[in-house]
Amino acid sequence: MAMLTEFGLIERFFHRPAGNAVLGVGDDAALLAPSPGAELVVSSDMLVAGRHFLPDTDPFLLGHKALAVNLSDLAAMGAVPRWATLALALPQVDEVWLEAFSRGFFALAERFGVSLVGGDTTRGPLNLCVTILGEAPAGRALRRSAARPGDMVWVSGDLGGAALGVAHLTGELRLDPADAALCLARLYRPEPRVMLGGLLACLAHAAIDVSDGLLADLGHILERSGVGAEIELDRLPAHPVLAGRRADPVVRRCLLAGGDDYELCFTAPSQRSATILAAAREAGVPVAAIGAITESPGLRLLDGEGAVMEVRERGFDHFA
Ligand code: ADP
Ligand code: MG
Repeated sequence: MAMLTEFGLIERFFHRPAGNAVLGVGDDAALLAPSPGAELVVSSDMLVAGRHFLPDTDPFLLGHKALAVNLSDLAAMGAVPRWATLALALPQVDEVWLEAFSRGFFALAERFGVSLVGGDTTRGPLNLCVTILGEAPAGRALRRSAARPGDMVWVSGDLGGAALGVAHLTGELRLDPADAALCLARLYRPEPRVMLGGLLACLAHAAIDVSDGLLADLGHILERSGVGAEIELDRLPAHPVLAGRRADPVVRRCLLAGGDDYELCFTAPSQRSATILAAAREAGVPVAAIGAITESPGLRLLDGEGAVMEVRERGFDHFA
């Protein structure tokens, strides 16, 4: 087969109808028409081969994950995603890889009504950078700085599965094949909580997505809001494979500090609990109340008896 040119490659794998854009791929820039009364919400997330994934990772799953992590950031702002751009550095033109990658990307994009409206393609070490654009009702986006004393702290879905998958891969712990498959699905195919995030825009105060571990990510909310929190260990929603092994230090670390779950952690006034539970039902995602925001700073983790536990687990930091 003849070698694809840069433009042939874009045309074949990334040029789709403009969808909800005024003008999509193919010009010098895309044209977008934000909804009246909405604020534009923008975020970028990069996946680097050898850093975030191994170069031989299934390209379909990479296409999914490159977009999923970005959708998760918008969900954490309470925004509805609408458009994306994709900047790709590829070591070579591998049509089989590109076909699977674009299928994974577009399968998720179509589910959430997101149009790919542009990007950049260059030769280089494998690197995937998505920029996502979405909308939030003006003044209602969920900021990390908006938690208030008395708020309840919530977490969606369950935690620790992705990190336990990593622990299995690195041989830190052995999982049977069925459990390993469940955890690796969480690692490779995160489900961004897009609908829940959108519904929380008018309900929650602060939110963040759990990408570096609950303690680290909730810590960002506390720091930016100038508040503290009391969290009850027994109320943390653990991934089913973690249940029954919570005493194992590796499992405990996955639950408290495991990254890559892409669940939402958010705070909201306690009077809104019933509304939040209803929103979660509508979104089809369980949510669990795990503690409360306090005036005094710092994160206190309480055991089953309400005693403060020592916390050594820390989240992931690329430069630590
Ligand atoms: P320019 O040279 O004007 O920057 P490019 O040649 O980089 O344009 O890209 C041509 C068109 O294809 C542009 O509309 C650009 O947004 C789009 N594009 C390039 N790479 C990608 C990609 N990986 N996915 C989606 N659109 C892309
Ligand atoms: Mg360009």
